Amino acid sequence: MSSYWSELTASLVPYVPGEQPKDQRYIKLNTNENPYPPSPKAIKAIQEAANADLRLYPDPTCEDLRVVLADYYGLSKEHIFVGNGSDEILAFAFPAFFSASKPILFPDITYTFYPVYAKLYGLPYETIATDDSFNIDPAMYRIPNGGIVIPNPNAPTARYMLTDYLREILDANREQVVIVDEAYIDFGGESVVPFVKDYPNLLVVQTLSKSRSLAGLRVGMALGHPDLIEGLNRIKNSFNSYTLDRLALAGAVASIEDRVYFEETNRKVIATRERSCEAVRQIGFEVIESKANFLFMTHPSQSAKEIFATLKDRGILVRYFDKPRIERYLRVSIGTDDEMDAFVAALREIA
Ligand code: PMP
Repeated sequence: MSSYWSELTASLVPYVPGEQPKDQRYIKLNTNENPYPPSPKAIKAIQEAANADLRLYPDPTCEDLRVVLADYYGLSKEHIFVGNGSDEILAFAFPAFFSASKPILFPDITYTFYPVYAKLYGLPYETIATDDSFNIDPAMYRIPNGGIVIPNPNAPTARYMLTDYLREILDANREQVVIVDEAYIDFGGESVVPFVKDYPNLLVVQTLSKSRSLAGLRVGMALGHPDLIEGLNRIKNSFNSYTLDRLALAGAVASIEDRVYFEETNRKVIATRERSCEAVRQIGFEVIESKANFLFMTHPSQSAKEIFATLKDRGILVRYFDKPRIERYLRVSIGTDDEMDAFVAALREIA
């Protein structure tokens, strides 16, 4: 351990991202990327933006992108904040809206970045217990708290919560900020973005990483009341006032504008998910019903850790979590039909 570290650094247990192997031959189903390329229009826009203007700083307000997003969501640009992936937006939102006096609430099984941010900023948190099938009872969000983070669908469980339940949680928690992390919402779930106009304490976070195939570009967005957006801007401008670079801004605008491509690729991912879910159930796996671009699955008798290792030996990467309550599960991102057929064929031989 470095003697130069602060006490904070020494105490941190940072988030560990999924493996990104250099070997391109893997069938990569481990980090919930989209198997299809980004919109060709987005790629062209990025290529065209790679020009002499890169000597200039980008627009610190990311206005063009916010205008396009406002049009897409039926809001105004004052309701929109953009960042380098939704991870960065969450990293700004924690210090912007939560404080040390009352705990933040998030589910016990959820995206591991939430506790990482809470610890980084010295913010207390309490977890909401999920049941054996990882469902969450909205009534549990009635305990005193200083803010709430709900991923919908949840990760890594894929559990989806109906918007009526989210409204119930919002109604019971009007005094504090409720963040709904909709990283996976485009794969069949219903978004709470239309609630933004009714709840000034609601911040919806989305990303271009999953349904727009742009994980490599790092673009996320937050939608909420202009006061919340102003809070995020204060934190952002205290770190780095230039958020997205020129290439990311150009690519993100073109991606949002290409609705036809977006809908077509999402339809394909959803169809492949349903087929794959059925196929692995037939092999004997229990699979949580998914409205995300991944499956969370367990075998009643076989070790997930061993299946993970055998699949890896065969060139198929999935995600295994060595954590209490989910150590019997695998999280499998939805690939192309061919990739999923190869995955199912390998499982048939193993399981
Ligand atoms: N929220 C959830 C629930 C996620 O699973 C992820 C992806 N790992 C993110 C946010 C972050 O996505 P990104 O930073 O690529 O937008």
